Amino acid sequence: MIANLHNADIPKPVLDVIGRLRELGHAVYLVGGCVRDMVHNVAPKDFDVATSALPEEVQRAFRKVIPTGIQHGTVTVVQGGTHVEVTTFRSEGDYHDGRRPSSVAFERDIVKDLSRRDFTMNAMAYNPVDRELVDPFGGQTDLQAQLIRCVGSAQERFSEDGLRSLRAVRFAAVLGFSLDPDTRAAIPATLSVFRKVAFERIHDELVKLLLTPRAELGLELLADTGLLDVFLPELARATPEAARLARAAVQAAPVELEVRLAALLSDLVDRTQARDICLRMKFPNKVADLVALLVEQAKLETRVGEPDAALRRLLARVGWVQLPQLIAVARARVQAREPQRRSEVEALFTRLESLAAAKPPLTPKELALTGADIMATLGVGPSPIIGEATRFLMESVLDDPSLNSADTLKRVLKEWHARTAR
Ligand code: ATP
Ligand code: MG
Repeated sequence: MIANLHNADIPKPVLDVIGRLRELGHAVYLVGGCVRDMVHNVAPKDFDVATSALPEEVQRAFRKVIPTGIQHGTVTVVQGGTHVEVTTFRSEGDYHDGRRPSSVAFERDIVKDLSRRDFTMNAMAYNPVDRELVDPFGGQTDLQAQLIRCVGSAQERFSEDGLRSLRAVRFAAVLGFSLDPDTRAAIPATLSVFRKVAFERIHDELVKLLLTPRAELGLELLADTGLLDVFLPELARATPEAARLARAAVQAAPVELEVRLAALLSDLVDRTQARDICLRMKFPNKVADLVALLVEQAKLETRVGEPDAALRRLLARVGWVQLPQLIAVARARVQAREPQRRSEVEALFTRLESLAAAKPPLTPKELALTGADIMATLGVGPSPIIGEATRFLMESVLDDPSLNSADTLKRVLKEWHARTAR
């Protein structure tokens, strides 16, 4: 494990920042997720540096710094074109409301900083200059045993910050680890604190959980611990079988956020509820709208055998750009729910793909006649009839894309006008 650390690839700008602070006589370490990942032989996503230097001292030590979160002790050093976050050792005062500490204090001692962190595996520090690992809570042992364990009393730690219980489940899913029994037991016991956590914070953890290859297990653990009921009762209160199928659909779906959300929700709620759930979970409107559309159309197996014209109307509704995502949702659902129908629905997907590949006109903009052409053909000015005429032409072209030439549409339009004009 230590060997993994010594061999780890640490970017030069990060080493330079650490070297400089060290030269000035400060204590300085890599901390948190990057140390966990290096010990575990995984390439870290980012490298967080912690130091005994005060924020002003860090600012003075480097040419280019951004005071990102200076009141919390975080300064971003711009070094060799990359951003390195440097945070002064901190401890936290009492938590008043299970959401945020009443105060933070800067510390001189790394162990004080590590003791405020959530899990033993996240509470290690490594100094690559001296090759020194600080591991006061047995993080290495727990990593080796694949255990997620709180630093200190789980009940107390989850009562300080309700988000930590969700983080425990998220890490269990991402890493494929188990929860230490005390840590596990503290989750249902502190749900009242978790209820106070802002949805913005839940959002980030939920996204990470949904995008792991073990999302199914993560969702199951969320349900079993009672966390799910707090932010996604629609799933938590589904029948056990419906919940199992929803999880299996997520598991079968590609690792893409909108697809996984739609796979999760499409057999539990309708389009409006899906949109509301996404907005409640603080997803952007764009994500919520797409998930709603995917949920609305997800049951593609019901459309096997429909004529081309009906499938073109489906494409018009979904937009051909989003067709691959819709197919991914439908495929995942069918794989989870009715695997025996696989070849039948795959044939439908192929039909949809080739209909889309022919790029038929799907929107009024793509009609061979413009609004002005329609007015000229009918000899009328702007009036409600233009809208009606456009809808009629669009429907005709969806039925038969070969009609979409100016001459043919003019003829079709005149016939329609003669029929409808009184
Ligand atoms: P990831 O690889 O998913 O980013 P991470 O461990 O880096 O995992 P972050 O959310 O980036 O997780 O947090 C960085 C570090 O800050 C953690 O490793 C942990 O030491 C500490 N930390 C983060 N959130 C909390 C919290 N709510 N309570 C206590 N410590 C926390
Ligand atoms: Mg991180």
